[in-house]
Amino acid sequence: MSKFWSAVVHGLTPYVPGEQPKLANLVKLNTNENPYGPSPKVLDAVRAEAADTLRLYPDPGSDRLRAGIAAYHGVTPDQVFVGNGSDEVLAHAFMALLKHDQPILFPDISYSFYPVYCGLYEIAHRTIPLTDAFEIRIDDYRVPNGGIIFPNPNAPTGRLLALAEIERLLAGNPDSVVVIDEAYIDFGGESAVGLAARYPQLLVTRTLSKSHALAGLRVGYAIGQAHLIEALNRVKDSFNSYPLDRFAQAGALASIEDRSYFESICAKVVATRTRLVADMEALGFEVLPSAANFIFARHPAHDGAELAAALRERSIIVRHFRSPDRIAPFLRITIGTDTQCDALLAALKALC
Ligand SMILES: *Cc1c(COP(=O)(O)O)cnc(C)c1O
Repeated sequence: MSKFWSAVVHGLTPYVPGEQPKLANLVKLNTNENPYGPSPKVLDAVRAEAADTLRLYPDPGSDRLRAGIAAYHGVTPDQVFVGNGSDEVLAHAFMALLKHDQPILFPDISYSFYPVYCGLYEIAHRTIPLTDAFEIRIDDYRVPNGGIIFPNPNAPTGRLLALAEIERLLAGNPDSVVVIDEAYIDFGGESAVGLAARYPQLLVTRTLSKSHALAGLRVGYAIGQAHLIEALNRVKDSFNSYPLDRFAQAGALASIEDRSYFESICAKVVATRTRLVADMEALGFEVLPSAANFIFARHPAHDGAELAAALRERSIIVRHFRSPDRIAPFLRITIGTDTQCDALLAALKALC
């Protein structure tokens, strides 16, 4: 605390990102990074930007990247917004589209950055409990609201909501914005992007951090009708005109264009997930159905925090959330390589 702080800072509760330990030789399964590297074409594109042109500002509108994303999704560039990671895209969406008189709605167990943005932008929110099976029940969202947001697949549960249910939500909620955060959709879900043409209140956000193995490049984007994108651009240009540097714009475009590469690494992650789930169930774990690059699992005979600590002693880092109470028994485990998952299984075998 300091007398020099602005009043708003005293009340902030910042997001706590998963740890990025500086030690080598860790089996790092705590922040849902891709265990495989990005496409070689991304590295070439980034290298090509290491040139004298770095003295010049990048394209403030990221026009080539937005055109590439638009082509990939079959939309027009004015339906695409890009940002410095999808966290920045989400932050702008909270400010631009979710700040109204009514509280916004999101699940009680969800991405823990949402309440942080509500605190920063002074947006009232109401959490809607997931079912006992940790599912989002659309009918629970039929209440007056200033907007609705959730990840699909949800985080940290990994559970996927069917596209038909999202359409039912949109049909029943025409007067406020619905943001579907598709950070993990490439690992087994069906995207809602195709619904944007018919639903003017739908904004879909995406990131290259997970399925494109580019967490270090910081690129995310949103797709929605042009009137929603314009609101995001107004906030962006009131905040930072150049959120994506030259490396990010070039690397992200190369990755979007190398579709077969990122589809192949996603398929490898999905295959490893199937195997890991089966092996963990054989050890007595209960694993929620996952459509993401992580699983959410608990062991009936072992405490979540203790298991996470014991794995850490064996140089394996997973994520554990202390609250809310009903997820405290769970571990969120990123799908690594087969070798990393074998190391995890060996450790769990010794512990359980
Ligand atoms: C990882 C994640 C993000 C943020 O991704 P970045 O693009 O790396 O900022 C957004 N939403 C959810 C649900 C995530 O898990």
